[in-house]
Amino acid sequence: MSKIIIIGGGAAGMMAAGVAAKNCEEVLLIEKTGSLGNKLSITGKGKCNLTNTEPKISTFIEKFGVKGKFLYNCFYKFFNQDLIEFFESKNLPLKEFSGGRIYPASLNARDVVKTLIEFIKNNGVQVKLDERAVKLIISDDKIKYLITNEKKYSCDSIIIAAGGMSYPKTGSTGDGYELAKQAGHTISPLLPSLVPLKTENIPKNLVGLKLKNVKVDVYNKEKEKLASEFGEFSFTDYGLDGSAILELSRNLKNKFTKCNLELKIDLKPVLTEKKLHNRIIREAKKHGKQEYKTLLGKLLPKKMVTIFLRKTNVDPHKKIASITTEDRSELIDLLKNFTVEICRTASIENAIITAGGIKTDQINPRTMESKLVQGLFFAGEVVDIDAATGGYNLQAAFSTGYVAGKSAAGSSSNK
Ligand SMILES: Cc1cc2nc3c(=O)[nH]c(=O)nc-3n(C[C@H](O)[C@H](O)[C@H](O)COP(=O)(O)OP(=O)(O)OC[C@H]3O[C@@H](n4cnc5c(N)ncnc54)[C@H](O)[C@@H]3O)c2cc1C
Repeated sequence: MSKIIIIGGGAAGMMAAGVAAKNCEEVLLIEKTGSLGNKLSITGKGKCNLTNTEPKISTFIEKFGVKGKFLYNCFYKFFNQDLIEFFESKNLPLKEFSGGRIYPASLNARDVVKTLIEFIKNNGVQVKLDERAVKLIISDDKIKYLITNEKKYSCDSIIIAAGGMSYPKTGSTGDGYELAKQAGHTISPLLPSLVPLKTENIPKNLVGLKLKNVKVDVYNKEKEKLASEFGEFSFTDYGLDGSAILELSRNLKNKFTKCNLELKIDLKPVLTEKKLHNRIIREAKKHGKQEYKTLLGKLLPKKMVTIFLRKTNVDPHKKIASITTEDRSELIDLLKNFTVEICRTASIENAIITAGGIKTDQINPRTMESKLVQGLFFAGEVVDIDAATGGYNLQAAFSTGYVAGKSAAGSSSNK
């Protein structure tokens, strides 16, 4: 008989399985696809930003928004330095990059997956690939059996670590929520987070343009500011993408009706309007004979020049020396407030993370055990927690996996 069954061979499931197997002889990991760590191997653009060095748990938790408080207990038990030690003790050197982001020194996410696979194998976890967990059998509010598409397993504990709903090709298609519902759990609405934004009417010549160090603010029709970010973003054929956009999307989850939001881009965030005026006046003094379109070429990426020429209504051949105060003001206003209408977030399939999930008030934060069914545990993205980019989401998956694995082994060994 397998005593502990883990559903899902991602970051959370592999951590949970390996930790559980240290204290329990029979641990079975069931993964519905043909391989382990599918999503993990594409994280961080294939490099895997596995945690963040932020030393204070309270600051780390702020990255999860208000729901993050649930993670205090798990982080006290297994935090970023524990995770770093975990991988380094298994001969996976790690390296810190800007913003405290930790990656494997090889910058290859597959090395993280390999290390976890070795970890579970060395601890004697049995692995079943291509097998899908379908149904929980619960009796007297205790876990009794798991039914898969192949067989019925009796067990003492089950850890659901089946992930969220994003990037479904990796195997994470929302099964964990259905299994949790069978146990009476409530699922808070599932929404895409850290996701590109969709627009209509992006000018074709902007597609492919990447902007760095810009400020982006989102407003609704009532002119209320809903979100603000600084950083990098790109125009794509479907809309807007890039780190600043992904972060913005976290605050826009419930804000869309149709194309009701405006994104204002400050293309010159470090220059005040006054400084920009002075800059153009200097150009007029030095290169007065040059044309307006040449000035635009100096202030803007090449792909934006035509759009600015169209939007500012100044003759492209006008000499810089002849540019009027009104011309200057119009140009500066556009440089500071280049506006794009945004219509919706891209679908959950394209999101880095699923917001929503198994409600945390039905889970014991000290053990990750269900408050409704004894012997049922949860770990990872399936739980209603999600964070900003920077390694926070994987740390949450590893920490909840660690605690669920340890707690399940503790409760199984008492039986
Ligand atoms: C493109 C991309 C890049 C990312 N980059 C980063 C990053 O750099 N840093 C970071 O912190 N986070 C990143 N994330 C988020 C991170 O990948 C997730 O937070 C993390 O993978 C969640 O781990 P998990 O184990 O909970 O779920 P998953 O990794 O999704 O694993 C769940 C597993 O369960 C299996 N499964 C599902 N249903 C069943 C079933 N019924 N029976 C058996 N098995 C089942 C699935 O096949 C899957 O293998 C990224 C996400 C994406 C999509």
